[in-house]
Amino acid sequence: MRGSSAVGEVTEGAERPFAAMAHLTTLRAAVLRTAALRSPHTPRPASLATQRRHASTKHPKGFSPPTQDELEELRERTIDFTRREITPEVAQATDHDNEFPHAMWKKLGDAGLLGVTADEEYGGLSMGYQAHCVILEELSRASGSIGLSYAAHSQLCVNQIMLNGNDEQKKKYLPGLVSGDTIGALAMSEHSAGSDVVSMRMTAKPTDGGYHLNGTKMWITNGPDAGLVVVYAKTEPEKGSKGMTAFLVETPPGTQGFSVARKLDKLGMRGSNTGELLFDNVFVPSANILGTVNHGVKVLMEGLDLERLVLSAGPLGLMQAALDITLPYVHERKQFGVPLASNQFIQGKLADMYTKYRASSAYTYTIARAIDESYENPTIRTQDCAGAILYAAERATECGMDAIQCLGGMGYMSEMAAGRVMRDAKLYEIGAGTSEIRRMVIGRAFNKEYGLGR
Ligand SMILES: Cc1cc2nc3c(=O)[nH]c(=O)nc-3n(C[C@H](O)[C@H](O)[C@H](O)COP(=O)(O)OP(=O)(O)OC[C@H]3O[C@@H](n4cnc5c(N)ncnc54)[C@H](O)[C@@H]3O)c2cc1C
Repeated sequence: MRGSSAVGEVTEGAERPFAAMAHLTTLRAAVLRTAALRSPHTPRPASLATQRRHASTKHPKGFSPPTQDELEELRERTIDFTRREITPEVAQATDHDNEFPHAMWKKLGDAGLLGVTADEEYGGLSMGYQAHCVILEELSRASGSIGLSYAAHSQLCVNQIMLNGNDEQKKKYLPGLVSGDTIGALAMSEHSAGSDVVSMRMTAKPTDGGYHLNGTKMWITNGPDAGLVVVYAKTEPEKGSKGMTAFLVETPPGTQGFSVARKLDKLGMRGSNTGELLFDNVFVPSANILGTVNHGVKVLMEGLDLERLVLSAGPLGLMQAALDITLPYVHERKQFGVPLASNQFIQGKLADMYTKYRASSAYTYTIARAIDESYENPTIRTQDCAGAILYAAERATECGMDAIQCLGGMGYMSEMAAGRVMRDAKLYEIGAGTSEIRRMVIGRAFNKEYGLGR
């Protein structure tokens, strides 16, 4: 399913006049070039230009929704990147060694992929949520675990700062995160607070000039490598969810009181480093409060909708990967004198895999587009953000299982990627809220519309 599209061909031809941009990364130059080309074709009405000054709090300053051509070009550029940098060998080694290829962070940063929703002022692309989904989908198609770590960095950390950070925080942290010099993570879950995350026990006690954080965070993606973690803690534990605050915690090696208790071994998403983090009187200055004191639950819940939407692109990439593996195999391998794909049982599986991918993709991108295009006053429907990932995640696991079955004995071998795709896909039914919680969230959203409490 990979291959250059008509847009890709136009792109190659159009590259020459932009030789002056050679110092920029390929993708960023491409994106900037497209933006430059857009204005003569689609002049922006004066009224819209005025409206942009009042742009949404969910999008960067001056945001305007990308065109379908821009999104296609971004997809081609991301595929170019994965072909070069996330080869099947890199993906296999990442899974096998359970180790993130550290140099990938700078490569992602240099390619302009780490700050797609961030303001250009901080080095971002300012392209919105459809673009973020496109990048995550294509990275996940090449490697589910590199895709997951990317999403934890660019959505859970970078975008959370974009949404809730003040100017000083953005100026201080976003450039390093967007360039890939600093790795980002988000820590809310604890051993005893997963689905019921607001029951967390980590405390933040006021002290001179800031707070002392104490407690443990569990299953934190990028936790073992992160230099900056968005951490949720109870500033007033007796107030429950109304006594929670979000903090930006610097965690470079040697941070006093901070340690990675262990890097976790996992069924899938191996190489997306997941850790248990210990905080023993870690000092955080008041300047690093994200949002306002005791309003962490607002930061958390608002972030969760967009997090679920963007993360639904991970399973999309994994479904594409399942098709990438299965289609050539069943057309080449013969049994009973005919290609496997000549059998209706196999055709049925291919049809189901393809249809599941297309339906999930339509759901995700319809919702992402609605959010981008309503940027002046974004329409974010909780049930659709939860619905997109609920549907895509379960379908991706099924596609992974079908890929294994279509490949028969080879599907069960580690040298083929089918098993890895299935193991990686299963995570998306658990992380960012489980399928059960997503169904609950959707049900409750309807109850709210009908005036029921829960
Ligand atoms: C690889 C990986 C990466 C992760 N990355 C991060 C991260 O970066 N940051 C972070 O903060 N967290 C992260 N998590 C944590 C993740 O968000 C939690 O694991 C998830 O929310 C589920 O919580 P739990 O594991 O405690 O399961 P539990 O809450 O114990 O749930 C166990 C089972 O019970 C079901 N269940 C629970 N309550 C209900 C209910 N009310 N109704 C019906 N069923 C219910 C669940 O759906 C599930 O099937 C990660 C987890 C994994 C596995």
